[in-house]
Amino acid sequence: MWLAVYPKKTVLKSIRDVLQRKRKDILNGKTPELSHDALLPFIETAIEANSACKLKPLINATGIIVHTNLGRAVLSAKAIEHMNCVACSYSNLEYELAGGKRGKRYSHLKDIIKELTGAEDAIAVNNNAAAVLVCLNTFAKDREVVVSRGELVEIGGSFRIPEVMKASGAVLREVGATNKTHLSDYENSLCGNTALLLKVHKSNYQVTGFTEEVSMDGLVKLGREYKIPVMADLGSGCLIDLGKYGIHSEPTVQSIIKAGADIITFSGDKLLGGPQAGIILGREKMIQKIQKNPLLRAVRIDKLSLASLEATLMQYLDEEKAVKEIPTLRMLIQPVEIIKKRAQRIYASLEKYITGRAEMEIIKDKSQAGGGSLPGADFPTFAVSIRPSGITVNELEKRLRLGHPPVIARIKENALLLDARTVGDAEIKGLAHCVKTAIATP
Ligand SMILES: *Cc1c(COP(=O)(O)O)cnc(C)c1O
Repeated sequence: MWLAVYPKKTVLKSIRDVLQRKRKDILNGKTPELSHDALLPFIETAIEANSACKLKPLINATGIIVHTNLGRAVLSAKAIEHMNCVACSYSNLEYELAGGKRGKRYSHLKDIIKELTGAEDAIAVNNNAAAVLVCLNTFAKDREVVVSRGELVEIGGSFRIPEVMKASGAVLREVGATNKTHLSDYENSLCGNTALLLKVHKSNYQVTGFTEEVSMDGLVKLGREYKIPVMADLGSGCLIDLGKYGIHSEPTVQSIIKAGADIITFSGDKLLGGPQAGIILGREKMIQKIQKNPLLRAVRIDKLSLASLEATLMQYLDEEKAVKEIPTLRMLIQPVEIIKKRAQRIYASLEKYITGRAEMEIIKDKSQAGGGSLPGADFPTFAVSIRPSGITVNELEKRLRLGHPPVIARIKENALLLDARTVGDAEIKGLAHCVKTAIATP
């Protein structure tokens, strides 16, 4: 009967897995029951485990909105819908309908990015690391790129500015000190071989205290004077002024374009709230030059990401709707009262399972944007705090992590925290089920 539902390979592997485990048990001096009926449930469980995909959805109860390990941005319904449309059918990906001839996959983004940011032209690639790489390779191969020592960023997962620079063939020219870089430091470093002035957004750290950095305006002025283009790696790529919502410190893409940067790169799946992608925008001539770089083909964006990216960008045309419909933005700016109400709903859904097995309360805490966005900014949040009595808090965390679906929580001061900021309303029921299973098992 299994063979009617599951592939023969999976069934065979599962039977072998179970028999192997039993042999091991026997070698370890145990005497497992080996009757047909005793083995069936083990095999069934093994088949289920072996036929599930390894990459799977989970519940993010960490409160970190852009969590690189947990897949970064959750796509909006419109992005998913458009991606599905394009996935299920042929499309004009590289076909110009008006002329009936070959077109460019990048052409679909040009108008919307121009409209949203004021940039002359734009393309999208696989991710922001690729965007930086291809820009440096196009404009600065075997030539110097000037970067402040305060901005030699490591993002994590091996993206480091000096190493990306090396891989691109560009030569890094560090200027200034870790805490202070002056305009004169940039100016003194210029030579006949300088190709680019690069400003890198400090995505995941802050330099505080006795510090100074050169503004984009200052760099642009210097660049113009010496006819050297200025590039900004913005990392997160925020398109709306978060100051309006009481969140500061993230420059918008528009403001950097306005300041006169010639080339800007940022991620599609950080604060923008779209799919994994790297967006390059700026001067038309420079974008055209990138399009001639053979490296671009190696880092090109696929049609599904392109479709969801375009749909996400379109949502920004109506900011009021965008902050409600793009999950990343919604989670970032939702009023703390809403988070508190959700924490109360999570609490209520757990109450009957918890009684006698743990202490539970709603606490005020802080969550982070994550993913190289808004470094140092803490957002007030509410979390359900659970202190189990029968098992350790680490054991509870582990059981939740290994559950179906997995729940990723935080541990703080010997309590397990379920941060209501990143838990979807529709996930509360599933979350309650997972906590019940985790806490009820002795
Ligand atoms: C995140 C980040 C990157 C890398 O972007 P990916 O989309 O992860 O490739 C590069 N530069 C900065 C400043 C970043 O914050």
